[in-house]
Amino acid sequence: MDLKFVCSQCGEEIVPEKGAGTGFACDGKDRVVCYKCYAVQDEAFMKKHGRISLYLTTSAGRQEITNWPGSLRIPVRYSKEGGHNIARVRRDVWFNFDGYLWHGIQYGTNSELCYCRRTKQRLTTYATDARGFQMLAM
Ligand SMILES: [Zn+2]
Repeated sequence: MDLKFVCSQCGEEIVPEKGAGTGFACDGKDRVVCYKCYAVQDEAFMKKHGRISLYLTTSAGRQEITNWPGSLRIPVRYSKEGGHNIARVRRDVWFNFDGYLWHGIQYGTNSELCYCRRTKQRLTTYATDARGFQMLAM
C-alpha cells in the first residue's frame, strides 16, 4: 500500500520513509505537517511568544537545541552545569535566535526537555548563517 500525505502548510507530498530524514508530524489540530514546516512553525512560535520547550542534545561533542523531529537545530553558545535540590542536575544554556540571546534550562539526567526563554539582551553584532538566521559573530 502506498501511504502518502500532503503537508497542510506547504502542500508538499510526503512519502514517509522508515528512518529517513523526511517525515511528517501532526500538529495540535490533527493536521499533517512535514518536518520542514514543523521547524518553521517552531521558529514562528519562538518569535511570537518568546518562549518554547525544545530539546537539549549533544551532536559530535557539541550541544544543540533541537525540536523533536530534529528539523530545527540551534548551536548552544555557552552552557553551565550546576546542582539542583530536586532534579540533582541543572543545565543552563544560552543560544542566539532572531537577534536575541535566549536562555534554556534543562533539569536532571533522564530528560532532554529544555525550557527556553528569550532574554531582553539584543545581539549587536550580527552575521547571517546559510539559513538566514542572525547569529552572534564569533
Ligand atoms: Zn510542509
